[in-house]
Amino acid sequence: MKNFAYSRAESAQAALTLISRETNSKFLGGGTNLVDLMRENIEQPDALVDVTRLSSGGIAELPNGGVSIGAEVKNSAVANHLLIRERYPLLSEAILCGASGQIRNMATTGGNLMQRTRCYYFYDETARCNKRNPGAGCDAIGGFNRIHAILGASDDCIATHPSDMCVALAALDAIVHVQGPNGPRAIPFEEFHRLPGNTPQVETALGPHELITSVELPPLEFAKNSRYRKVRDRASYAFALVSVAAAIQLEGDNVRNVRIALGGVAPKPWRARRAEQALTGSAANLENFRSAAEAELSAARGYRDNTFKIELAKRTIESVLGELANLGDLQ
Ligand code: SF4
Repeated sequence: MKNFAYSRAESAQAALTLISRETNSKFLGGGTNLVDLMRENIEQPDALVDVTRLSSGGIAELPNGGVSIGAEVKNSAVANHLLIRERYPLLSEAILCGASGQIRNMATTGGNLMQRTRCYYFYDETARCNKRNPGAGCDAIGGFNRIHAILGASDDCIATHPSDMCVALAALDAIVHVQGPNGPRAIPFEEFHRLPGNTPQVETALGPHELITSVELPPLEFAKNSRYRKVRDRASYAFALVSVAAAIQLEGDNVRNVRIALGGVAPKPWRARRAEQALTGSAANLENFRSAAEAELSAARGYRDNTFKIELAKRTIESVLGELANLGDLQ
């Protein structure tokens, strides 16, 4: 087998590593939906390798006050760990919003990072899909695209990233530690997932033969005042139409620090830098929260069925920040 790549994978169905004759120099990895993709003939690996018993230290406090989460740690263990619940409640909430209890009991941290889009057309072999078949076209752009992206999309792909956990990790400036043929390296979370551009088939910054070993949460004192809110079609087992992970630190009546990331709106967990910039140092009131949301969504583009997400994202940002600033829950 001349080409192969591997990754932490997620859940019983994909606690595996994918090795494919199709990889050439690109990476293919596990993720929640690997076996689903195999069933649909989207992925056809030559072999799968179980890497879930490779331990990278569980959940541990770091000397700098941060926390390290091993790639093999189950999502439910992360969500329920005291360090996470006390210091990073948005991460605990995000994980508990995802999937089902059964899946969270099997899904791993590394596998969550590697899950692939739930775009209907990506799963449909009869549809045109640039992610599955580069250069083929994209049937979602002119098709039913209610769940698709309004930020960061391209003319080649408008799929969204499905993870809840990753939205919280984006807000926390997490660091992805990987091990590969050239030794270990650390990838800032914002650089881990890629926007589609004209290569939507390349989804992460992982190189060939690289393995996620852990995710580091830097210390962030004000993350204790944080929230994850997920807006979806039903209360459980549904992907986000829009989600917001946010943390805020007030100084008097002003915003001293704020972190905001969005899910369900972009091909990667979307760090809302424009909104953060607009808010930092300004008065913590609903008018400013709305203005910041307007600034973030100014670059949004709606397609046939998903334009509603633009206003929904603005309202959700305003509401979550209002709740965190004790201005009332505007849900
Ligand atoms: Fe494929 Fe992306 Fe288009 Fe969906 S949006 S059909 S994943 S290219």
